[in-house]
Amino acid sequence: MRSLSFVVALPIAVAASGALAGGEINGGGMYSTYTAKSDSASSDRAFDTSPADNLDEVVKQLTRAIDRLARYHVPRDPPRIYRVPHAELENYVCKTHCAIRAWYKPGDGIFLDESLKPETNLFHRSILLHEMVHYFQDAAGEYGKMGDCDRWFHRELDAYTVQNRYLGTIGHPSRVAFTGDNCNNIEAKAKDEGHAQAFDGIKGRVDPDQH
Ligand SMILES: [Zn+2]
Repeated sequence: MRSLSFVVALPIAVAASGALAGGEINGGGMYSTYTAKSDSASSDRAFDTSPADNLDEVVKQLTRAIDRLARYHVPRDPPRIYRVPHAELENYVCKTHCAIRAWYKPGDGIFLDESLKPETNLFHRSILLHEMVHYFQDAAGEYGKMGDCDRWFHRELDAYTVQNRYLGTIGHPSRVAFTGDNCNNIEAKAKDEGHAQAFDGIKGRVDPDQH
């Protein structure tokens, strides 16, 4: 049985602008001049920064973006997405108050804090992209041979890298950083405290985008 303590959560910690040189800066594709609905036009819209009409459109766009920024195989179906109140998200993931904004539940779908507006807010769009990377990873069985904690850890690092590439590519000044503990420390701590919440090091991060 899959242990729910191995959740893949998104502790957003935005580094000071430019502190992490994760993104390639490339303004190309930001303002698409294409009007025809050909394949090449739609792939150029992978990094379109204009407001989207709905979440489906954002998901299609981000699918193309991940396809261009990372090596993952694109899953056939889009992820299920649930927009839930913040308190519900806290309850799923932290069991107490925390700065959780989004969560990918393996085998189920993406839970987004309902205050996130990926249709119009580009940083929020990058949070959805991060969770979609987890969906791609899950579908591909990425790092499948590793233990639960190591798999989670490497998937997080990769998701942050892809998110920063995306932010850089669309010319957004924010960068995200993984600030969680490594697996040795997490497991040692869990043992000391006598409980199995291996990844509760995700609590208490602040998303400066909210300030
Ligand atoms: Zn993550």
